[in-house]
Amino acid sequence: MGGWRHVLSAVPGDAQVLIGGEQVEGTGSAVDVVNPATEAVIASVRSATDADVEAAVKAARSSFRAWKNTPAPERGEKLHALSDWIGEHTESLAETLTREGGKPLVENRDEMGWSSSCLDFYAEMGRIERGRIVPSGEAGQLNLVVKEPYGAVAAIVPWNYPILLLMWKLAPALAAGNTVVVKPSPYTPLSTLELADGIARIFPPGVVNVITGEADTGRSLVANPDVALIAFTGSVETGKQVAHAAADRLAKVHLELGGKDAFIVCDDVDVELAARGAAWAAYLNSGQVCTSAERFYVLPQVYDDFVDAFVDQASGIVVGDPMEESTDMGPLVRAVQRDAVEAQLSSARAAGARILFGGERPADTGFFLTPAVVVDVDDSMDVMSVETFGPVAPIAKVSSLEEAIQRTNESPYGLGANVYTRRLDYMLAAMEEIEAGTVWFNDPLTDNEAAPFGGFKSSGNGRELGVEGLDDFRQTKHIHIDSKLDAKAWWYPYADYARHQAEFGTAPG
Ligand code: NAD
Repeated sequence: MGGWRHVLSAVPGDAQVLIGGEQVEGTGSAVDVVNPATEAVIASVRSATDADVEAAVKAARSSFRAWKNTPAPERGEKLHALSDWIGEHTESLAETLTREGGKPLVENRDEMGWSSSCLDFYAEMGRIERGRIVPSGEAGQLNLVVKEPYGAVAAIVPWNYPILLLMWKLAPALAAGNTVVVKPSPYTPLSTLELADGIARIFPPGVVNVITGEADTGRSLVANPDVALIAFTGSVETGKQVAHAAADRLAKVHLELGGKDAFIVCDDVDVELAARGAAWAAYLNSGQVCTSAERFYVLPQVYDDFVDAFVDQASGIVVGDPMEESTDMGPLVRAVQRDAVEAQLSSARAAGARILFGGERPADTGFFLTPAVVVDVDDSMDVMSVETFGPVAPIAKVSSLEEAIQRTNESPYGLGANVYTRRLDYMLAAMEEIEAGTVWFNDPLTDNEAAPFGGFKSSGNGRELGVEGLDDFRQTKHIHIDSKLDAKAWWYPYADYARHQAEFGTAPG
Protein backbone atom coordinates (compact mmCIF):
# COMPACT_ATOMS: atom_id res chain seq x y z
CA MET A 1 0.00 0.00 0.00
CA GLY A 2 1.39 3.38 -0.98
CA GLY A 3 2.23 6.24 1.32
CA TRP A 4 -0.38 8.59 -0.07
CA ARG A 5 -3.24 6.34 0.95
CA HIS A 6 -2.37 7.00 4.59
CA VAL A 7 -2.44 10.75 4.09
CA LEU A 8 -5.65 10.25 2.17
CA SER A 9 -7.45 8.98 5.23
CA ALA A 10 -9.45 12.25 5.35
CA VAL A 11 -10.92 11.30 1.99
CA PRO A 12 -13.61 8.63 2.01
CA GLY A 13 -13.10 5.49 -0.04
CA ASP A 14 -9.97 3.66 -1.09
CA ALA A 15 -9.12 5.92 -3.99
CA GLN A 16 -6.50 4.54 -6.37
CA VAL A 17 -5.85 4.78 -10.09
CA LEU A 18 -7.79 2.27 -12.16
CA ILE A 19 -6.10 0.34 -14.93
CA GLY A 20 -7.74 -2.65 -16.59
CA GLY A 21 -10.19 -3.07 -13.71
CA GLU A 22 -7.41 -3.09 -11.09
CA GLN A 23 -7.15 -0.29 -8.54
CA VAL A 24 -3.42 0.17 -8.17
CA GLU A 25 -1.02 2.90 -7.25
CA GLY A 26 0.59 5.09 -9.92
CA THR A 27 4.30 4.41 -10.12
CA GLY A 28 5.53 7.97 -10.81
CA SER A 29 6.46 10.79 -8.47
CA ALA A 30 4.00 12.06 -5.88
CA VAL A 31 2.05 15.29 -6.38
CA ASP A 32 0.61 17.11 -3.37
CA VAL A 33 -3.08 17.94 -3.29
CA VAL A 34 -3.66 21.20 -1.42
CA ASN A 35 -6.86 22.40 0.23
CA PRO A 36 -7.17 25.94 -1.18
CA ALA A 37 -9.14 27.14 1.85
CA THR A 38 -6.53 26.07 4.41
CA GLU A 39 -3.38 25.68 2.27
CA ALA A 40 -2.89 22.29 4.00
CA VAL A 41 -1.60 19.34 1.99
CA ILE A 42 -4.45 16.83 2.22
CA ALA A 43 -3.00 14.06 0.08
CA SER A 44 -0.08 13.18 -2.10
CA VAL A 45 -0.97 11.23 -5.21
CA ARG A 46 1.48 9.31 -7.34
CA SER A 47 1.43 10.23 -11.03
CA ALA A 48 1.10 7.72 -13.81
CA THR A 49 4.38 7.11 -15.61
CA ASP A 50 4.66 6.50 -19.35
CA ALA A 51 4.41 2.77 -18.56
CA ASP A 52 1.19 3.32 -16.56
CA VAL A 53 -0.26 5.38 -19.41
CA GLU A 54 0.68 2.64 -21.85
CA ALA A 55 -0.98 0.01 -19.65
CA ALA A 56 -4.18 2.09 -19.31
CA VAL A 57 -4.43 2.70 -23.06
CA LYS A 58 -3.72 -0.97 -23.75
CA ALA A 59 -6.53 -1.94 -21.35
CA ALA A 60 -8.92 0.47 -23.07
CA ARG A 61 -7.88 -0.79 -26.48
CA SER A 62 -8.28 -4.48 -25.53
CA SER A 63 -11.73 -4.00 -24.06
CA PHE A 64 -12.96 -1.91 -27.00
CA ARG A 65 -14.35 -4.64 -29.27
CA ALA A 66 -16.42 -6.28 -26.55
CA TRP A 67 -17.78 -2.93 -25.32
CA LYS A 68 -18.57 -1.76 -28.86
CA ASN A 69 -20.51 -4.99 -29.43
CA THR A 70 -22.35 -4.79 -26.10
CA PRO A 71 -25.99 -4.00 -26.91
CA ALA A 72 -26.74 -0.31 -26.46
CA PRO A 73 -29.48 -0.89 -23.83
CA GLU A 74 -26.96 -2.85 -21.73
CA ARG A 75 -24.42 -0.04 -22.05
CA GLY A 76 -27.18 2.37 -21.05
CA GLU A 77 -27.93 0.33 -17.91
CA LYS A 78 -24.30 0.70 -16.82
CA LEU A 79 -24.47 4.48 -17.30
CA HIS A 80 -27.65 4.58 -15.21
CA ALA A 81 -25.87 2.49 -12.56
CA LEU A 82 -23.01 5.00 -12.37
CA SER A 83 -25.55 7.80 -12.13
CA ASP A 84 -27.17 5.99 -9.17
CA TRP A 85 -23.77 5.39 -7.57
CA ILE A 86 -23.00 9.12 -7.77
CA GLY A 87 -26.42 9.84 -6.27
CA GLU A 88 -25.67 7.54 -3.34
CA HIS A 89 -22.22 9.07 -2.81
CA THR A 90 -23.13 12.70 -3.40
CA GLU A 91 -22.23 13.92 0.07
CA SER A 92 -18.86 12.25 0.18
CA LEU A 93 -17.91 13.23 -3.39
CA ALA A 94 -19.07 16.82 -2.82
CA GLU A 95 -17.00 17.10 0.35
CA THR A 96 -13.93 15.75 -1.41
CA LEU A 97 -14.46 18.22 -4.25
CA THR A 98 -14.75 21.10 -1.80
CA ARG A 99 -11.62 20.06 0.08
CA GLU A 100 -9.49 19.72 -3.04
CA GLY A 101 -10.98 22.48 -5.23
CA GLY A 102 -12.40 25.08 -2.83
CA LYS A 103 -15.82 25.29 -4.49
CA PRO A 104 -18.66 25.75 -1.94
CA LEU A 105 -20.22 22.49 -0.82
CA VAL A 106 -23.64 23.51 -2.05
CA GLU A 107 -22.27 23.98 -5.59
CA ASN A 108 -20.48 20.64 -5.47
CA ARG A 109 -23.69 18.86 -4.48
CA ASP A 110 -25.26 20.46 -7.54
CA GLU A 111 -22.33 19.27 -9.64
CA MET A 112 -23.13 15.70 -8.57
CA GLY A 113 -26.78 16.13 -9.53
CA TRP A 114 -25.87 17.43 -12.98
CA SER A 115 -23.32 14.63 -13.42
CA SER A 116 -25.95 11.96 -12.74
CA SER A 117 -28.36 13.70 -15.02
CA CYS A 118 -25.81 13.74 -17.87
CA LEU A 119 -25.21 10.00 -17.45
CA ASP A 120 -28.96 9.31 -17.52
CA PHE A 121 -29.40 11.47 -20.61
CA TYR A 122 -26.74 9.63 -22.65
CA ALA A 123 -27.84 6.23 -21.30
CA GLU A 124 -31.07 6.85 -23.20
CA MET A 125 -29.68 8.87 -26.11
CA GLY A 126 -27.18 6.09 -26.91
CA ARG A 127 -30.02 3.65 -27.62
CA ILE A 128 -32.13 5.85 -29.89
CA GLU A 129 -30.34 5.68 -33.23
CA ARG A 130 -26.98 4.93 -34.78
CA GLY A 131 -27.38 6.38 -38.24
CA ARG A 132 -29.82 6.80 -41.10
CA ILE A 133 -30.88 5.44 -44.49
CA VAL A 134 -30.32 7.70 -47.48
CA PRO A 135 -31.95 7.35 -50.94
CA SER A 136 -30.06 4.95 -53.21
CA GLY A 137 -28.93 5.68 -56.77
CA GLU A 138 -30.54 2.52 -58.17
CA ALA A 139 -33.40 0.17 -57.39
CA GLY A 140 -32.32 -2.88 -55.40
CA GLN A 141 -29.74 -0.98 -53.39
CA LEU A 142 -29.55 0.13 -49.77
CA ASN A 143 -27.42 3.04 -48.55
CA LEU A 144 -26.80 3.27 -44.83
CA VAL A 145 -25.00 5.98 -42.88
CA VAL A 146 -23.74 4.24 -39.76
CA LYS A 147 -22.25 5.91 -36.67
CA GLU A 148 -19.46 3.97 -35.01
CA PRO A 149 -17.22 4.52 -31.99
CA TYR A 150 -13.59 5.54 -32.49
CA GLY A 151 -11.88 3.16 -30.04
CA ALA A 152 -9.84 4.24 -27.01
CA VAL A 153 -10.67 7.83 -26.07
CA ALA A 154 -8.52 10.06 -23.83
CA ALA A 155 -10.63 12.31 -21.59
CA ILE A 156 -8.45 15.09 -20.13
CA VAL A 157 -10.23 17.46 -17.76
CA PRO A 158 -9.51 20.57 -15.66
CA TRP A 159 -10.06 21.26 -11.94
CA ASN A 160 -13.03 23.65 -11.88
CA TYR A 161 -15.80 21.05 -12.45
CA PRO A 162 -13.83 17.79 -12.23
CA ILE A 163 -16.73 15.34 -12.23
CA LEU A 164 -19.27 17.20 -14.36
CA LEU A 165 -16.83 17.97 -17.18
CA LEU A 166 -15.66 14.38 -17.05
CA MET A 167 -19.27 13.18 -17.41
CA TRP A 168 -19.79 15.42 -20.45
CA LYS A 169 -17.11 13.27 -22.13
CA LEU A 170 -17.42 9.90 -20.41
CA ALA A 171 -21.19 9.51 -20.79
CA PRO A 172 -21.42 10.13 -24.56
CA ALA A 173 -18.12 8.34 -25.26
CA LEU A 174 -19.32 5.19 -23.50
CA ALA A 175 -22.86 5.43 -24.87
CA ALA A 176 -21.36 5.50 -28.36
CA GLY A 177 -19.31 2.35 -27.64
CA ASN A 178 -15.86 3.82 -27.02
CA THR A 179 -13.62 2.89 -24.12
CA VAL A 180 -11.94 5.63 -22.11
CA VAL A 181 -8.77 6.66 -20.30
CA VAL A 182 -9.50 9.52 -17.89
CA LYS A 183 -6.93 12.02 -16.66
CA PRO A 184 -8.12 14.56 -14.07
CA SER A 185 -6.24 17.71 -13.10
CA PRO A 186 -3.42 17.20 -10.59
CA TYR A 187 -5.15 19.86 -8.42
CA THR A 188 -8.31 17.77 -8.04
CA PRO A 189 -7.58 14.05 -8.53
CA LEU A 190 -9.22 12.81 -5.32
CA SER A 191 -12.87 13.05 -6.35
CA THR A 192 -12.13 11.28 -9.64
CA LEU A 193 -10.18 8.55 -7.82
CA GLU A 194 -13.14 8.16 -5.47
CA LEU A 195 -15.43 7.88 -8.48
CA ALA A 196 -13.12 5.14 -9.77
CA ASP A 197 -14.45 2.94 -6.92
CA GLY A 198 -17.89 3.10 -8.49
CA ILE A 199 -16.57 2.69 -12.00
CA ALA A 200 -14.61 -0.43 -10.99
CA ARG A 201 -17.77 -2.01 -9.57
CA ILE A 202 -19.97 -1.21 -12.57
CA PHE A 203 -18.00 -1.43 -15.82
CA PRO A 204 -16.13 -4.42 -17.28
CA PRO A 205 -12.36 -4.19 -16.76
CA GLY A 206 -10.62 -1.78 -19.11
CA VAL A 207 -13.74 0.02 -20.35
CA VAL A 208 -12.97 3.01 -18.12
CA ASN A 209 -9.45 3.59 -16.82
CA VAL A 210 -8.40 6.43 -14.53
CA ILE A 211 -4.85 7.71 -14.31
CA THR A 212 -3.50 10.77 -12.50
CA GLY A 213 -0.65 13.15 -13.14
CA GLU A 214 0.48 16.53 -14.39
CA ALA A 215 1.16 17.85 -17.89
CA ASP A 216 3.69 15.08 -18.67
CA THR A 217 1.07 12.40 -18.05
CA GLY A 218 -1.31 14.29 -20.34
CA ARG A 219 1.37 14.58 -23.04
CA SER A 220 2.11 10.88 -22.84
CA LEU A 221 -1.59 10.07 -23.22
CA VAL A 222 -2.02 12.43 -26.18
CA ALA A 223 1.02 10.96 -27.91
CA ASN A 224 -0.04 7.33 -27.49
CA PRO A 225 -0.72 5.90 -30.97
CA ASP A 226 -3.55 3.71 -29.67
CA VAL A 227 -5.58 6.71 -28.48
CA ALA A 228 -8.02 7.31 -31.33
CA LEU A 229 -9.66 10.49 -30.04
CA ILE A 230 -8.51 13.10 -27.55
CA ALA A 231 -11.34 14.90 -25.76
CA PHE A 232 -9.76 17.83 -23.94
CA THR A 233 -11.13 20.57 -21.71
CA GLY A 234 -8.70 23.21 -20.48
CA SER A 235 -6.97 26.44 -21.40
CA VAL A 236 -6.42 27.73 -24.93
CA GLU A 237 -2.64 27.41 -24.55
CA THR A 238 -2.77 23.75 -23.51
CA GLY A 239 -5.43 23.10 -26.15
CA LYS A 240 -3.00 24.32 -28.82
CA GLN A 241 -0.30 21.97 -27.51
CA VAL A 242 -2.72 19.06 -27.57
CA ALA A 243 -3.80 19.92 -31.12
CA HIS A 244 -0.15 20.15 -32.28
CA ALA A 245 0.73 16.80 -30.73
CA ALA A 246 -2.37 15.13 -32.17
CA ALA A 247 -1.64 16.56 -35.62
CA ASP A 248 1.63 14.61 -35.71
CA ARG A 249 -0.33 11.39 -35.91
CA LEU A 250 -3.58 12.87 -37.29
CA ALA A 251 -5.56 11.82 -34.23
CA LYS A 252 -9.04 13.24 -33.87
CA VAL A 253 -9.21 16.10 -31.31
CA HIS A 254 -12.17 17.60 -29.52
CA LEU A 255 -11.29 20.85 -27.71
CA GLU A 256 -13.32 22.75 -25.09
CA LEU A 257 -11.25 25.79 -24.16
CA GLY A 258 -11.32 29.11 -22.36
CA GLY A 259 -13.49 32.17 -22.79
CA LYS A 260 -13.97 35.85 -22.04
CA ASP A 261 -17.74 35.96 -21.97
CA ALA A 262 -19.45 39.30 -22.42
CA PHE A 263 -22.56 40.28 -20.47
CA ILE A 264 -24.69 42.95 -22.13
CA VAL A 265 -27.23 44.94 -20.11
CA CYS A 266 -29.84 46.73 -22.24
CA ASP A 267 -31.78 49.88 -21.36
CA ASP A 268 -35.15 48.17 -20.76
CA VAL A 269 -34.22 45.91 -17.84
CA ASP A 270 -35.09 45.68 -14.18
CA VAL A 271 -31.64 46.82 -13.03
CA GLU A 272 -31.78 45.13 -9.62
CA LEU A 273 -32.64 41.77 -11.16
CA ALA A 274 -30.03 42.13 -13.90
CA ALA A 275 -27.36 43.00 -11.32
CA ARG A 276 -28.27 39.96 -9.25
CA GLY A 277 -27.98 37.65 -12.26
CA ALA A 278 -24.81 39.44 -13.35
CA ALA A 279 -23.11 39.05 -9.97
CA TRP A 280 -23.84 35.33 -9.92
CA ALA A 281 -22.54 34.97 -13.49
CA ALA A 282 -19.33 36.82 -12.57
CA TYR A 283 -18.58 35.25 -9.18
CA LEU A 284 -19.93 31.68 -9.31
CA ASN A 285 -17.10 29.36 -8.24
CA SER A 286 -14.99 32.50 -7.61
CA GLY A 287 -15.23 33.34 -11.30
CA GLN A 288 -13.52 30.06 -12.20
CA VAL A 289 -16.12 28.92 -14.72
CA CYS A 290 -15.22 28.73 -18.42
CA THR A 291 -18.39 30.74 -19.08
CA SER A 292 -17.98 33.21 -16.22
CA ALA A 293 -19.18 36.67 -17.24
CA GLU A 294 -15.84 38.49 -17.51
CA ARG A 295 -16.72 41.82 -19.16
CA PHE A 296 -19.89 43.86 -18.86
CA TYR A 297 -21.23 46.22 -21.51
CA VAL A 298 -24.03 48.40 -20.17
CA LEU A 299 -26.22 50.85 -22.10
CA PRO A 300 -25.94 54.46 -20.84
CA GLN A 301 -29.55 54.83 -19.63
CA VAL A 302 -29.06 52.18 -16.92
CA TYR A 303 -25.30 52.30 -16.39
CA ASP A 304 -25.14 54.25 -13.10
CA ASP A 305 -28.00 52.33 -11.49
CA PHE A 306 -26.58 49.02 -12.67
CA VAL A 307 -23.14 49.76 -11.23
CA ASP A 308 -24.66 50.77 -7.88
CA ALA A 309 -26.80 47.64 -7.78
CA PHE A 310 -23.82 45.49 -8.77
CA VAL A 311 -21.68 46.89 -5.94
CA ASP A 312 -24.55 46.13 -3.54
CA GLN A 313 -24.62 42.55 -4.80
CA ALA A 314 -20.84 42.11 -4.59
CA SER A 315 -20.68 43.51 -1.06
CA GLY A 316 -23.37 41.07 0.09
CA ILE A 317 -21.48 37.97 -1.03
CA VAL A 318 -20.30 35.80 1.85
CA VAL A 319 -16.68 34.79 1.23
CA GLY A 320 -15.35 32.09 3.52
CA ASP A 321 -15.05 28.44 4.43
CA PRO A 322 -16.49 26.54 1.45
CA MET A 323 -17.63 23.72 3.76
CA GLU A 324 -20.09 26.12 5.44
CA GLU A 325 -23.60 25.95 4.03
CA SER A 326 -23.97 29.74 4.16
CA THR A 327 -20.79 30.50 2.18
CA ASP A 328 -21.40 31.99 -1.27
CA MET A 329 -17.81 32.08 -2.47
CA GLY A 330 -14.76 30.03 -1.51
CA PRO A 331 -11.09 30.56 -2.35
CA LEU A 332 -9.40 30.45 -5.73
CA VAL A 333 -7.85 27.11 -6.52
CA ARG A 334 -4.20 28.02 -6.06
CA ALA A 335 -1.94 30.95 -5.09
CA VAL A 336 -0.69 31.21 -8.66
CA GLN A 337 -4.27 31.69 -9.87
CA ARG A 338 -4.92 34.44 -7.34
CA ASP A 339 -1.59 36.12 -8.26
CA ALA A 340 -2.64 36.20 -11.92
CA VAL A 341 -5.99 37.79 -11.04
CA GLU A 342 -4.34 40.38 -8.81
CA ALA A 343 -1.86 41.20 -11.59
CA GLN A 344 -4.77 41.96 -13.95
CA LEU A 345 -6.35 44.22 -11.31
CA SER A 346 -3.07 46.10 -10.69
CA SER A 347 -2.40 46.67 -14.36
CA ALA A 348 -5.98 47.86 -14.92
CA ARG A 349 -5.62 50.28 -12.00
CA ALA A 350 -2.30 51.54 -13.39
CA ALA A 351 -4.05 52.20 -16.72
CA GLY A 352 -6.77 54.32 -15.07
CA ALA A 353 -9.42 51.82 -13.97
CA ARG A 354 -11.13 52.23 -10.58
CA ILE A 355 -11.88 49.31 -8.28
CA LEU A 356 -15.18 50.20 -6.60
CA PHE A 357 -15.25 47.14 -4.40
CA GLY A 358 -13.23 44.04 -3.52
CA GLY A 359 -10.11 42.55 -5.05
CA GLU A 360 -8.64 42.13 -1.57
CA ARG A 361 -7.35 39.22 0.47
CA PRO A 362 -9.80 38.81 3.34
CA ALA A 363 -7.69 36.27 5.26
CA ASP A 364 -4.02 35.39 5.80
CA THR A 365 -4.63 31.72 5.08
CA GLY A 366 -6.33 30.30 2.01
CA PHE A 367 -6.31 31.65 -1.54
CA PHE A 368 -9.31 33.93 -0.98
CA LEU A 369 -10.03 37.12 -2.88
CA THR A 370 -13.09 39.30 -2.37
CA PRO A 371 -15.31 39.84 -5.43
CA ALA A 372 -14.08 42.86 -7.37
CA VAL A 373 -16.11 45.48 -9.26
CA VAL A 374 -14.03 47.54 -11.69
CA VAL A 375 -15.10 50.58 -13.73
CA ASP A 376 -13.44 53.06 -16.13
CA VAL A 377 -12.16 50.14 -18.15
CA ASP A 378 -11.47 49.82 -21.86
CA ASP A 379 -10.99 46.79 -24.09
CA SER A 380 -7.22 47.29 -24.34
CA MET A 381 -6.83 46.27 -20.68
CA ASP A 382 -6.06 42.61 -19.91
CA VAL A 383 -8.98 42.58 -17.48
CA MET A 384 -11.29 43.16 -20.48
CA SER A 385 -9.50 41.05 -23.08
CA VAL A 386 -7.61 38.14 -21.47
CA GLU A 387 -9.37 35.32 -19.59
CA THR A 388 -9.28 36.22 -15.87
CA PHE A 389 -10.68 33.07 -14.24
CA GLY A 390 -11.27 34.91 -11.00
CA PRO A 391 -13.92 36.98 -9.16
CA VAL A 392 -13.60 40.18 -11.18
CA ALA A 393 -16.38 42.13 -12.91
CA PRO A 394 -15.13 44.95 -15.15
CA ILE A 395 -18.04 47.15 -16.27
CA ALA A 396 -17.94 49.43 -19.35
CA LYS A 397 -20.53 51.92 -20.58
CA VAL A 398 -21.50 51.54 -24.25
CA SER A 399 -23.53 53.89 -26.44
CA SER A 400 -25.78 51.23 -28.02
CA LEU A 401 -26.51 47.52 -28.31
CA GLU A 402 -24.72 47.60 -31.65
CA GLU A 403 -21.52 48.80 -29.98
CA ALA A 404 -21.92 46.17 -27.24
CA ILE A 405 -22.23 43.40 -29.84
CA GLN A 406 -19.29 44.72 -31.85
CA ARG A 407 -17.07 44.80 -28.75
CA THR A 408 -18.32 41.36 -27.71
CA ASN A 409 -17.17 40.00 -31.06
CA GLU A 410 -13.78 41.77 -31.08
CA SER A 411 -12.23 38.92 -29.13
CA PRO A 412 -10.40 35.76 -30.09
CA TYR A 413 -12.73 33.89 -27.72
CA GLY A 414 -16.30 32.83 -28.51
CA LEU A 415 -17.50 30.52 -25.75
CA GLY A 416 -20.65 32.16 -24.34
CA ALA A 417 -22.38 35.52 -23.99
CA ASN A 418 -25.24 36.92 -21.93
CA VAL A 419 -27.83 39.54 -22.79
CA TYR A 420 -30.38 41.07 -20.42
CA THR A 421 -33.38 42.49 -22.23
CA ARG A 422 -37.09 41.97 -22.82
CA ARG A 423 -37.12 43.69 -26.22
CA LEU A 424 -37.60 41.32 -29.13
CA ASP A 425 -35.67 43.52 -31.58
CA TYR A 426 -32.68 43.52 -29.20
CA MET A 427 -32.95 39.74 -28.77
CA LEU A 428 -33.06 39.08 -32.49
CA ALA A 429 -30.10 41.38 -33.19
CA ALA A 430 -28.04 39.78 -30.42
CA MET A 431 -28.90 36.19 -31.30
CA GLU A 432 -28.04 36.73 -34.97
CA GLU A 433 -24.84 38.74 -34.51
CA ILE A 434 -23.05 37.46 -31.41
CA GLU A 435 -20.20 35.09 -32.26
CA ALA A 436 -20.41 32.53 -29.45
CA GLY A 437 -21.35 28.91 -28.91
CA THR A 438 -24.08 29.82 -26.41
CA VAL A 439 -26.05 33.04 -26.02
CA TRP A 440 -28.08 33.27 -22.81
CA PHE A 441 -30.92 35.77 -22.51
CA ASN A 442 -31.94 36.69 -18.94
CA ASP A 443 -30.79 33.36 -17.43
CA PRO A 444 -26.99 33.27 -17.25
CA LEU A 445 -24.94 30.07 -17.42
CA THR A 446 -27.83 27.61 -17.54
CA ASP A 447 -26.93 24.38 -19.33
CA ASN A 448 -29.42 22.04 -20.89
CA GLU A 449 -28.28 18.48 -21.59
CA ALA A 450 -30.36 18.38 -24.74
CA ALA A 451 -28.60 21.44 -26.19
CA PRO A 452 -24.97 21.52 -27.36
CA PHE A 453 -22.24 23.40 -25.51
CA GLY A 454 -18.94 24.54 -27.03
CA GLY A 455 -16.96 27.41 -28.45
CA PHE A 456 -16.62 29.55 -31.54
CA LYS A 457 -13.14 30.78 -32.56
CA SER A 458 -10.34 30.04 -30.05
CA SER A 459 -12.78 28.70 -27.48
CA GLY A 460 -12.82 25.27 -29.05
CA ASN A 461 -13.80 23.07 -31.92
CA GLY A 462 -16.21 20.45 -30.65
CA ARG A 463 -19.56 20.25 -28.95
CA GLU A 464 -20.58 18.57 -25.71
CA LEU A 465 -24.15 17.73 -24.64
CA GLY A 466 -27.07 17.21 -26.99
CA VAL A 467 -26.99 14.88 -29.95
CA GLU A 468 -23.92 16.83 -31.14
CA GLY A 469 -22.12 15.74 -27.98
CA LEU A 470 -22.79 12.10 -28.85
CA ASP A 471 -21.84 12.56 -32.50
CA ASP A 472 -18.46 14.00 -31.54
CA PHE A 473 -17.64 10.55 -30.16
CA ARG A 474 -18.85 8.71 -33.28
CA GLN A 475 -17.30 8.40 -36.71
CA THR A 476 -19.38 8.00 -39.82
CA LYS A 477 -19.34 4.99 -42.12
CA HIS A 478 -21.25 4.79 -45.39
CA ILE A 479 -22.46 1.32 -46.33
CA HIS A 480 -23.54 0.70 -49.93
CA ILE A 481 -25.37 -2.58 -50.58
CA ASP A 482 -26.44 -3.82 -54.02
CA SER A 483 -28.75 -6.81 -53.86
CA LYS A 484 -28.82 -7.44 -57.63
CA LEU A 485 -25.33 -8.88 -58.23
CA ASP A 486 -25.32 -7.68 -61.86
CA ALA A 487 -22.41 -6.44 -64.00
CA LYS A 488 -22.22 -2.65 -64.21
CA ALA A 489 -22.14 -0.87 -67.54
CA TRP A 490 -19.17 1.28 -66.55
CA TRP A 491 -16.90 -1.67 -65.77
CA TYR A 492 -14.24 -2.87 -68.26
CA PRO A 493 -14.11 -3.34 -71.16
CA TYR A 494 -14.84 0.28 -72.09
CA ALA A 495 -15.22 -0.86 -75.76
CA ASP A 496 -18.59 -2.50 -74.88
CA TYR A 497 -19.75 0.69 -73.28
CA ALA A 498 -18.85 2.84 -76.31
CA ARG A 499 -20.41 0.34 -78.76
CA HIS A 500 -23.67 0.18 -76.82
CA GLN A 501 -23.83 3.96 -76.52
CA ALA A 502 -23.32 4.32 -80.27
CA GLU A 503 -25.95 1.69 -81.11
CA PHE A 504 -28.69 2.45 -78.57
CA GLY A 505 -27.79 5.88 -77.17
CA THR A 506 -27.75 4.43 -73.63
CA ALA A 507 -25.40 2.52 -71.37
CA PRO A 508 -25.68 -1.30 -71.53
CA GLY A 509 -27.82 -3.09 -68.97
P1 NAD B 1 -5.07 23.39 -18.24
O1 NAD B 1 -5.10 23.60 -19.70
O2 NAD B 1 -3.90 23.89 -17.48
O3 NAD B 1 -5.18 21.84 -17.87
C1 NAD B 1 -6.26 21.03 -18.29
C2 NAD B 1 -5.86 19.57 -18.22
O4 NAD B 1 -4.84 19.31 -19.19
C3 NAD B 1 -5.27 19.13 -16.88
O5 NAD B 1 -5.71 17.81 -16.61
C4 NAD B 1 -3.78 19.16 -17.15
O6 NAD B 1 -3.02 18.32 -16.28
C5 NAD B 1 -3.71 18.68 -18.58
N1 NAD B 1 -2.52 19.09 -19.34
C6 NAD B 1 -1.70 20.14 -19.10
N2 NAD B 1 -0.77 20.23 -20.08
C7 NAD B 1 -1.02 19.22 -20.96
C8 NAD B 1 -0.43 18.81 -22.18
N3 NAD B 1 0.61 19.45 -22.72
N4 NAD B 1 -0.96 17.75 -22.83
C9 NAD B 1 -2.05 17.10 -22.32
N5 NAD B 1 -2.65 17.45 -21.16
C10 NAD B 1 -2.14 18.50 -20.48
O7 NAD B 1 -6.41 24.02 -17.67
P2 NAD B 1 -6.86 24.20 -16.18
O8 NAD B 1 -6.07 25.31 -15.55
O9 NAD B 1 -6.90 22.88 -15.51
O10 NAD B 1 -8.38 24.69 -16.39
C11 NAD B 1 -8.75 26.01 -16.60
C12 NAD B 1 -8.99 26.28 -18.07
O11 NAD B 1 -9.96 25.37 -18.57
C13 NAD B 1 -9.57 27.67 -18.32
O12 NAD B 1 -8.95 28.25 -19.43
C14 NAD B 1 -11.04 27.39 -18.60
O13 NAD B 1 -11.68 28.38 -19.37
C15 NAD B 1 -10.96 26.08 -19.31
N6 NAD B 1 -12.25 25.38 -19.24
C16 NAD B 1 -12.98 25.24 -20.40
C17 NAD B 1 -14.23 24.62 -20.34
C18 NAD B 1 -15.07 24.42 -21.57
O14 NAD B 1 -15.98 23.60 -21.54
N7 NAD B 1 -14.85 25.14 -22.65
C19 NAD B 1 -14.70 24.15 -19.11
C20 NAD B 1 -13.92 24.32 -17.98
C21 NAD B 1 -12.69 24.93 -18.05
